Amino acid sequence: MATRQIAILGSTGSIGVSALEVVKANPDLFSVDLLVAGRQGERLAEQVRMFKPRVAGLSDAAGFSALCQALGVAAGASAWGDTKLVCGEAEILSAIAESSAPIVVAAVVGMAGLSGVLAAIDSGKDIALANKESLVVAGELVRKRVSEKGVKLIPVDSEHSAVFQVLQGIQPGDLDSVILTASGGPFLHTPKEAFRGITPEQALKHPKWNMGAKISIDSATMMNKALEVIEARWLFDVPEKEIEVIVHPQSIIHSMIRLIDGTVLAQLSVPDMKGPIAYALTYPETRARRVMERLDFTKVQELTFLPLQADKFPSIERARQCLRGANGASAVMNTANEVAVSLFLARALSFEGIYSLIGESLERFGSRSYGSLEELFALTDEVTEWARQYATSIRH
Ligand code: NDP
Repeated sequence: MATRQIAILGSTGSIGVSALEVVKANPDLFSVDLLVAGRQGERLAEQVRMFKPRVAGLSDAAGFSALCQALGVAAGASAWGDTKLVCGEAEILSAIAESSAPIVVAAVVGMAGLSGVLAAIDSGKDIALANKESLVVAGELVRKRVSEKGVKLIPVDSEHSAVFQVLQGIQPGDLDSVILTASGGPFLHTPKEAFRGITPEQALKHPKWNMGAKISIDSATMMNKALEVIEARWLFDVPEKEIEVIVHPQSIIHSMIRLIDGTVLAQLSVPDMKGPIAYALTYPETRARRVMERLDFTKVQELTFLPLQADKFPSIERARQCLRGANGASAVMNTANEVAVSLFLARALSFEGIYSLIGESLERFGSRSYGSLEELFALTDEVTEWARQYATSIRH
């Protein structure tokens, strides 16, 4: 494979850093054109010094000052050496559109990542998609733009990467269902009655994966799997009833597909996001070397499976209802979840309160539809405002 330039949106986060590790281990395959993130100026400065991208930027102005300081240039400078520096969302979106990278790693957290994903698609770039929330809130719209522009949408989420990998060479008519595996998160064996006292520190400790704060909380509530059901619906164009979910605590089988003849195909590896990231960045050419540890079956010893505990973790059934309902429902669920998770992390909402806030938001806004991006943003703004207010009235 010829060296491929890449752009990373969310380079300072967990996925962004893993993507840069993949680049570092494979300098013959990748070079970095664009690095953008939110507010971590010092971390981005380190990345700029190491990878010397053509453009680097932050959406947050205070973060940008820290970036300039860490690079030793004047506050508000427009360049560091050959690297152009950009600040604020508008400049970042222009930089994405102008990037010469043919593929963009979309690794911003939350629906804040949607505008970058759309800018990349509109400028004809393939997407290595980690930012599942953009598909959850606007799956139909993103798919439409992807097909209009003829670009590739390649999943980075480990479950969807697994499905994508095992789907290679499978005729669409031979697929019976997609089987998403779920680790079950840190509270798989915690009784529901004990949910009340769960702290952010406990919820952030995922047994298998080391991830950013938001997705760690989503894994603890199993909202992550709910978002993934919706993500799978749009990535693979399968109806909700053909998406199964099974708990697999070892996180070795990353997901499976069931074929019409009864065959099940699975993808296995150690749990390490560098694998799916590298696959997305090299697809459909050669695989990258030195990406993950080899899977040692003598150490794994057993692979176990459990049914979902739907009464304990209602999120997945809610996601299915969203997919059966109005096209705004998934966006409402995602928005309420983003508000709830940030309040929980700030200790302004209990763990149980996350479920209540999402349930109440769906009750109130779940039948809404949208026809344009502007209507979608108006809906998510309304839900955000309402959910923040409502949260103050929930006593848990
Ligand atoms: P992190 O919180 O670790 O990182 C998020 C990144 O987004 C940071 O670089 C952050 O910048 C940036 N960011 C946040 N807001 C903005 C904004 N408004 N504009 C530009 N950049 C912004 O998250 P993760 O890496 O864990 O997750 C990223 C996405 O990948 C999520 O959608 C998650 O669900 C998905 N994912 C993550 C996995 C994982 O293993 N971590 C696995 C599968 C999917 P800064 O920190 O500088 O503010």
